[in-house]
Amino acid sequence: MSNGFLRFKSFKLSTKSNTINRWLSTGFEEHQLTSVQCGALLQSFMSTKSVGRGKRLHAYTITSGLLFNNTYLCTKLAAMYASFGEMVDAGLIFDRIVLKSSFLWNVMIRGYANSGLPEDALVLFGEMICFGQKADNFTYPFVLKACGDLLMVRLGREVHCQIVVRGFAHDLYVANSLLAMYLKFGEVWVSRQLFDKMSVRDLTSWNTVISGYAQNGYFDEAISVFRVMEQARVGQDSVTFLSLVAACANLSDLELARQVHGRIVGESLEYDAFVRNSLIDMYCKCGFLVGAVKLFEGIVDKDVVSWNSIIAGCVRNGEPVRSFTLFRRMRAEMDEVDQATLTSLISACNQLTALQCARCIHAYIIEIGFGFDITLGSSIVDMYAKCGSVEFARQVFDEIPTRNLFSWSAIIAGYGLHGRGKDSLSLFGQMKHSGIKPDGVTCVSVLAACSHAGLVDEGREIFEKMSSEYSVVPQMEHYICFVDLLGRAGRLEEAYDFIERMKMEPSIDVWASLLSASRTHNNMHLAEAIADKIFHLKPKGTGVYVALSNIYASARRWKDAEVVRAILRQRKLKKPPGYSFVELNRTVHWFLVGDRSHPQSEEIYAKLADLRIHMKEAGYKPDTSSVFYDVEDDVKEKMLECHSERLAIAFVLINTRPGTPIRIAKNLRVCNDCHSATKLISKLVGREIIVRDARRFHHFINGSCSCGDYW
Ligand code: ZN
Ligand code: ZN
Repeated sequence: MSNGFLRFKSFKLSTKSNTINRWLSTGFEEHQLTSVQCGALLQSFMSTKSVGRGKRLHAYTITSGLLFNNTYLCTKLAAMYASFGEMVDAGLIFDRIVLKSSFLWNVMIRGYANSGLPEDALVLFGEMICFGQKADNFTYPFVLKACGDLLMVRLGREVHCQIVVRGFAHDLYVANSLLAMYLKFGEVWVSRQLFDKMSVRDLTSWNTVISGYAQNGYFDEAISVFRVMEQARVGQDSVTFLSLVAACANLSDLELARQVHGRIVGESLEYDAFVRNSLIDMYCKCGFLVGAVKLFEGIVDKDVVSWNSIIAGCVRNGEPVRSFTLFRRMRAEMDEVDQATLTSLISACNQLTALQCARCIHAYIIEIGFGFDITLGSSIVDMYAKCGSVEFARQVFDEIPTRNLFSWSAIIAGYGLHGRGKDSLSLFGQMKHSGIKPDGVTCVSVLAACSHAGLVDEGREIFEKMSSEYSVVPQMEHYICFVDLLGRAGRLEEAYDFIERMKMEPSIDVWASLLSASRTHNNMHLAEAIADKIFHLKPKGTGVYVALSNIYASARRWKDAEVVRAILRQRKLKKPPGYSFVELNRTVHWFLVGDRSHPQSEEIYAKLADLRIHMKEAGYKPDTSSVFYDVEDDVKEKMLECHSERLAIAFVLINTRPGTPIRIAKNLRVCNDCHSATKLISKLVGREIIVRDARRFHHFINGSCSCGDYW
């Protein structure tokens, strides 16, 4: 067979579909088919992806004796199996063929490359060259694809050279594959050069470059190529827009997002299911939830992806309660729920610290049969820990049949969050014993656990073993944890030296961690020195400026505090308002500082006044150093008393039976005064009070806290 591909074409043309239909309607086994007729049938099965019929015809060619020594039919069969992705069968037939055409080689290389077997594709390509068969424009695209998938940069470049030498560089198909390969290597600029040099481009070329940029995180470049595309008046399709929508989402650029949406409407592509779902996702990521909801409600035939996008969007935009409302509607309207839905619900629950809600989600997951999924199981462990019950987390963890790194990391981090560093460390030991190597995330969790529990030596040992034993190169987050660990333990100078000796340029967060430690340990001299360093690094967020103004306020240096506050105002940066929330009877109640909007507000304040009397009797003296305004002490006391977590505690006290544990979540760190007040309240009212602040959990029982005043 001199040119397999041409023969393949001619048979395709000679195939008459009505004849094929006649053979099929009666069952082809009834007919005495020739090998040419069998070839035509195989071709038809290949295009209709009829795997079962193809196998029956294979059997027929064996029983009828047609297949024996028939290179033509064997080639057809190999091609059919390769197109189905059944490469073992294709390979068995391929090996039996003595005279292998270039068509056959190409079919096999393509089959391997498209079936997730890029190594086999490349091995076969090597054999093809050894057998003296020349690669052509049907071979190269799949060899390039395989090189790209395996990130074999060197080989990829060699094949590129071969392509240039053999004159295939201007073949559109080959050129597009070259673009795609370099983009997979992350060599964005090489592919851009190739793209700019292309004399002919089709839409695949444009889309390859735009999607490649988007996938490699070069979102601005993706948009710029799109602009060039518009100027060149090249038509765009849904593939182009999907990449652009992804770029806008990642850039969180609402203005641009609106423009792209407009162009999509202009091209009448807004009804494409993929496009509209990704538009919802885009608006959510741009923080424009109203727009996303409007789009979502406009969809008549909402699919599971539409629901998932909007539910995840609500969670992302800090509206977890709304995501539950949407989920109830979703269940009423459709049966389908997938892992993405459940993952969003779990995140919503984590945001709310809603233990009751966590139990409902857990029960639901078991009910619909997702219970034994290892990833989901690990998320449930994480959820219970974040919702305040490390005991439930442990129970679920113990029930997971096979544990992976995620499950271990979830439980280790969970214990850390609750200040149970010893338990974290013991589980870390068990994990290593079970043969699982920790990764960067586990190391962060266990270092944070040591930090929250004040286990300095243990933390140091882990930090030192990271590179040598666990092959984890310390990243900035590990340095932050370690500085935090030393700082909390009051080893300020050691922490300072450690930062100075760091192998990378310390980030603002590293210094900020030590700043907060020097404040806790009242080392104003060091705090100011660090503040200078931080100022020099020009921080973006509000936290550091607020911390600095607090340092001056604690030292009663009101003028300096005012200077920092002026900078905050000048930079239009504001301290986020403190709020707490609590779940009661499946409803979440929110409290801002000094809030009087709650329907039970009067009772809440009466309860606080009542508590104040009992607390004073017990010897409580408010720590007014947390108040950063120059006002009289009794005003300061009142300001502290209406901190959001106290309102939430009073609210639960008046609405639940004596002895019921109180679970509160707060967006900021608990202040010193609220911490001592809550300790005392837990003793006075005889209740366990569990508070999740921005950093960790505090379990207040009978006058003391699990954090050991160390947070
Ligand atoms: Zn407070
Ligand atoms: Zn505490």
